[in-house]
Amino acid sequence: MTDLFDEARQRLDRAAEHLDIHDDVMEQLRYPKETLAATLPVRMDDGSTRSFKAWRCRYDDTRGPTKGGIRFHPNVNIDEVMTLAFWMTFKCAVANLPYGGGKGGVAVDVKHLSRTELERLSRAYVQAFARFIGPERDVPAPDMYTNGIVMAWMADEYSKMADAPTPAVITGKPIALGGSQGRDDATGRGGYYVLRHLEKELGVAPEKSRVVLQGFGNASFHCARLLHDDGYKVVGLSDSRSAIYDPDGIDPHAAMAHKRKSGALAGAKGNGATKDLTNAELLEAECDVLVPAALENQITASNAEKIQAPVIVELANGPTMPEADPILAKAGKTVIPDILANSGGVTVSYFEWVQNKSGFYWDADEVHRRLKQTIAPEAERIWAMRKKKDIDMRTAAYVHALERIAEAVDARGTQDYFNPDG
Ligand code: GLU
Repeated sequence: MTDLFDEARQRLDRAAEHLDIHDDVMEQLRYPKETLAATLPVRMDDGSTRSFKAWRCRYDDTRGPTKGGIRFHPNVNIDEVMTLAFWMTFKCAVANLPYGGGKGGVAVDVKHLSRTELERLSRAYVQAFARFIGPERDVPAPDMYTNGIVMAWMADEYSKMADAPTPAVITGKPIALGGSQGRDDATGRGGYYVLRHLEKELGVAPEKSRVVLQGFGNASFHCARLLHDDGYKVVGLSDSRSAIYDPDGIDPHAAMAHKRKSGALAGAKGNGATKDLTNAELLEAECDVLVPAALENQITASNAEKIQAPVIVELANGPTMPEADPILAKAGKTVIPDILANSGGVTVSYFEWVQNKSGFYWDADEVHRRLKQTIAPEAERIWAMRKKKDIDMRTAAYVHALERIAEAVDARGTQDYFNPDG
């Protein structure tokens, strides 16, 4: 097991110290339930065949079918997939969705694939994992470098194999194929609702607070746009290649228009003297709210002390290494942890699955209303738990999730109430 997974479990152990739970629960949550590895042979456009490594992990299904995205990234490996599945287990419990946690991945750089190669790879994934996934078993969704089109190919492949339209096998689909209104901006919107709901507690407000977002993908863009439209000043943005900072503010709509046109964020202009920074420098830039919305392990023991933002909203999965947690806490920073801050995506995935199963579809207002109604009270509960137990927000979120998972494990029966004499 590598560090990422071990680190994830450290947080679980830390949370368990604050709860009186049965050993059975902790033993069960220490290991993934099942992980399947496969090799996907894909016909390339030039006629050759290339093999890609792929995985799917169902971490824990006590609370319901496992749920989580599929990531296409060159560095994906089995440990990362297991860790992401572990995080999904807690994220779904934080949002109180009737799901366990799962995740999938393919080691591939999609930037080197044509559209037809990407389609064959997506279909090959479903062929390899068709018996592992399923609407009542394990429900994938988009993650880094997978999107609605990839989900459409996957849903189509599964439906062909099942010989029946089966939209509920996967979420994040295009609207025309059973996708939900409001799924595209759900992750960013969820983070936005959490921040706005806790404004008073966090000491931030529109017209007064400056926001830096690391990353400019789907989650980050929508969060930036919603905050900007409400009067927050977005002062920094980045993509995988470059970062920009402008104390006079950046309009995320204009930055996205620039990125769409030129293919990169570099060169996008804010309202004043826009500076170019590196991604690492951006994290340490002056602002009131820092939103890491890119990769794992961005805030480490070596840069945690240099972060200026008093509030950190983790829109990415796992952007803060455990070693950085105590440094941030000592410096008085409040971290809204990933399993709460980015739970909007999977929450609207759940709404999509419900709509697919019922065959009755909601409008965008309904989706937004229900998302807010789901995430805001959980943010409040975690804030209250933090105060009650005098712990950081992350530990509070894990304690909150663990309580729910433990309750489900207990309800199913632990040794506690196994009485051999009847
Ligand atoms: N990949 C997203 C996440 O990490 C969404 C998962 C889902 O919608 O199932 O939360």
